[in-house]
Amino acid sequence: MSVSQAGTALCGGIDVGGTKIEAQLFGAGFAPLAKRRLPTSRGDFRDFMAVLAEQVEWIMAATPKAAPIGVALPGIVDPETGASTAANLPIGGRNVAAALRTRFGRDFAFLNDCSAFALSEARGGAGEGFETVLGLILGTGVAAGFCQRGAEAPGRLNRLAVEIGHVGISARALEGLNLPLIRCGCGRLGCYETYVAGPGLARLAEAGLGLRISGEELAAHPEGEAVLEIWADLAAEALDQARLLLDPQCVVLGGGLSRLPGVAERLAAALARRPLGDLRPPALRIATFGDASGGRGAAIHAGSLTP
Ligand SMILES: [Zn+2]
Repeated sequence: MSVSQAGTALCGGIDVGGTKIEAQLFGAGFAPLAKRRLPTSRGDFRDFMAVLAEQVEWIMAATPKAAPIGVALPGIVDPETGASTAANLPIGGRNVAAALRTRFGRDFAFLNDCSAFALSEARGGAGEGFETVLGLILGTGVAAGFCQRGAEAPGRLNRLAVEIGHVGISARALEGLNLPLIRCGCGRLGCYETYVAGPGLARLAEAGLGLRISGEELAAHPEGEAVLEIWADLAAEALDQARLLLDPQCVVLGGGLSRLPGVAERLAAALARRPLGDLRPPALRIATFGDASGGRGAAIHAGSLTP
């Protein structure tokens, strides 16, 4: 699609993932105009930065000088040193923001990819109209972002996303399920992610049915319903803990598992089985922007920092 045909590009966002780096151009109101995907380099930091810089150049060529450009990164970016850490990228301890600044002579706005997801859904997405939005991604990993009044929640020590995937699963959630405690990729034992992310659902299917199948295959399997109910119950326990800590008005679900049939209804029902006084449940919605949310949220974040 030609950018000039679709409208004038005003800003850009880049979503950095383990397999691809996606750049997007946006017009007025963050309307998507064009996107471009490049494979993430599996080499070293220099190779990684070469692909990222190529995407920055593509956006800069289509936007006005000094247009807001945001970058969503998985993992943690130290708010004081800029040092980045992400399990699936060759950036450990390196300063991605400083490297881009040196190359282009200007600043770019960085934020965590789950925070970008939550921000994108809070601004014109499924969380529009709510003052607090938890954007929960249920995919190959599990993590969330938290937005207050349409902005990334300010003032956090490490600028962490809501790392609910690496919170230890509660004993009451496992009661009667006869499931083992599993060592997570992060090194800790019994993280929610090991049960509730995509590979976790496959693990539940194997434990319950003795079958090695995907989430989609499970949904179509005659005995898959029981496994999906256990998965929903464990996911709702994670959601309940996030709810008790953050009390969001709205929870937006994203990631591959959010596309399983009836996920919002399943989680709402499982959450209702965890009453505490007269707590009102948060609105549960499925993401509007899907995979585009990382780049869109990064662009919105960049725009909010530009005077
Ligand atoms: Zn973990």
